[in-house]
Amino acid sequence: MSRIRVAIQKSGRLSESSLGLLQSCGLRFAKSKDKLFWYGQDFPVDLLLVRDDDIPRLLLDGVCELGIVGQNIAREVMLERNGGSGLEELRPLQFGGCRLSLAVPEASTASSAKDLDGARIATSYPALTRALLEEQGVSARIVELSGSVEIAPGLGTADAISDLVSTGTTLRANHLRELQELFRSTAALYRSAAPMSEESSTLLDRLLARLDGVLQAQECKYVMLHAPRDQVDTITALLPGAEHPSVMELEGTPGRVALHAVCRETLFWEHLEALKGAGATAILVLPVEKMLA
Ligand code: ATP
Ligand code: ZN
Repeated sequence: MSRIRVAIQKSGRLSESSLGLLQSCGLRFAKSKDKLFWYGQDFPVDLLLVRDDDIPRLLLDGVCELGIVGQNIAREVMLERNGGSGLEELRPLQFGGCRLSLAVPEASTASSAKDLDGARIATSYPALTRALLEEQGVSARIVELSGSVEIAPGLGTADAISDLVSTGTTLRANHLRELQELFRSTAALYRSAAPMSEESSTLLDRLLARLDGVLQAQECKYVMLHAPRDQVDTITALLPGAEHPSVMELEGTPGRVALHAVCRETLFWEHLEALKGAGATAILVLPVEKMLA
C-alpha cells in the first residue's frame, strides 16, 4: 500500500502549527525522539522533520510528496532551482504570516524601491528579491547573506536590506526603517508537480478533504445571543458569513428570542459591538471543532 511523506519544520516558527494542523486532521505519529522520521499510525501519512529551507528541495527531488513551508522559501527555491516552477501550492495556511520588506538606514533619503536602483541590497532571499525588484524596473546589486541581514548596512556592506518582518522590532533595534513591502507570505501546503500514483492521489484527496474541514472550522464560530424579535433580520445581517440562524422562544420574555448561527468568516470585536448596538445581549461565541459540509 502506498504512503505519503510530509516534510515539516523540525524546530522553529512553523513546527508547532504544522504538526498541530496534521494532528487536527486525525493523523497520529509514532514519534522517535531524535529521528527525522515519524511513522503515521492510523493513516498512511508519515512525517519528515527537517530544516524549513530544505523542504522545497526535498519535494523537487521526490524525497517526499508534501511539505509545509513558508511561501517565501518555496518561491525562492523555485526561482533559484527551477525557473520559478516545480511546486504546486495546494492550500495557503493561517500561520507563519510575515512580509519580505525593503529597509534602509533611518537617515536614508530613499522613499521607495525605485530609489534603490543600483544600490547594494543584503538578503537571504536573493532570487525572490531580484525578481520582485525587476517587476518594478529596479535593478539592484544583491549581497547574499544567510543570516543577520539587518546588521549589513551598519557594517557598510550594503545600502539596504530585503528581509522578513513581522513586528518591525528587529528593524528598529538596528536603526532601520521599513521602506516598502515586497511580498506577503504565509505558510502553505505544497506538493511536487511530479505525477503521483493513482493510489497516492486518492490518499492525497482524502487528506485534503480532512484538511479543508479543519481549515473551515478554524474560521467558523458558533454564535448564541438574545435579541429583540423585531431585530432578528438586522442582527442576522450583522453576523459575518452566517446563513439561516435558528430562532427560539425565550421562556417568559415575549418580544425577545434566542438566536444561534454559524459564522463562516472571522468574527471581530467590532462585529460584537455592532450586535450589541442592535439590541443583542448575552452574546456567546464558541469555536467549532469539526465540520463536514
Ligand atoms: P530552520 O532552522 O528550520 O532553518 P529558520 O530559523 O530558518 O529555521 P524560522 O525563524 O523558524 O526559520 O522561520 C520559519 C518561517 O517562518 C520563515 O521562513 C517565514 O516563512 C516564517 N516567519 C514568520 N514570521 C517571521 C519573522 N518575523 N521572521 C522570520 N520568519 C518568519
Ligand atoms: Zn531556515
